[in-house]
Amino acid sequence: MDLQILIPVTIIGVLGLGFGLILAYVSKRFDVPVDPRVEQVRKILPGANCGACGYSGCDAYAVAVVYGQAAPTLCTVGGDPVAREMGAIMGVTVQDKGAKKARVLCKGTPERSRRKYGYEGIESCAAASLLYGGSMECPYGCLGIGDCVKACQFGAIRVVDGVAFIDEEKCTACAMCVASCPKGIIRMVKQGVAATTRCSNRDKGAVA
Ligand code: SF4
Ligand code: SF4
Repeated sequence: MDLQILIPVTIIGVLGLGFGLILAYVSKRFDVPVDPRVEQVRKILPGANCGACGYSGCDAYAVAVVYGQAAPTLCTVGGDPVAREMGAIMGVTVQDKGAKKARVLCKGTPERSRRKYGYEGIESCAAASLLYGGSMECPYGCLGIGDCVKACQFGAIRVVDGVAFIDEEKCTACAMCVASCPKGIIRMVKQGVAATTRCSNRDKGAVA
């Protein structure tokens, strides 16, 4: 092989080998042992990676639980059974919180609720609500554009007849829809509670 090629190739090869050995040494020397309970906790978590626990995903939440930065009760998708299992690994007793489901507190279909104006702006409830509080005459009414539908990673919400509707069978109680609704009309309610007032109007008497 031509020396003009052989010499640089040899130098690059030697340098690569040298840096590789240094990196291998440094990673071994400064290796931080991971608590084996992180893997155990991670296996229990449902893997939804929805962020309902307040962490970027199940991996980050498992680390936070094991290192004492988070309570084992924050995974709403796993609920009480998962919290109990995590508590057993961490050696703590966990109180059941009871399962919850999201519910839209509005039934303002076109027959029940009039519109102030026709909205033709950005397809977003958040954007629509910036214009006089939205197009509904009722200032607490569902705008029906579906920001909550986009926020739900579990396909539990759809807009039916202009109002968001939640399929409780599919709802994992992650609560992402609650934060997404600019009208604040989605609430987490205890599972099995059949009767809730499906209206968010807080005005009194004739005003309402
Ligand atoms: S409806 Fe969807 S976004 Fe809302 S709590 Fe249930 S799963 Fe989460
Ligand atoms: S419940 Fe809230 S976010 Fe969902 S469609 Fe109605 S106004 Fe929009």
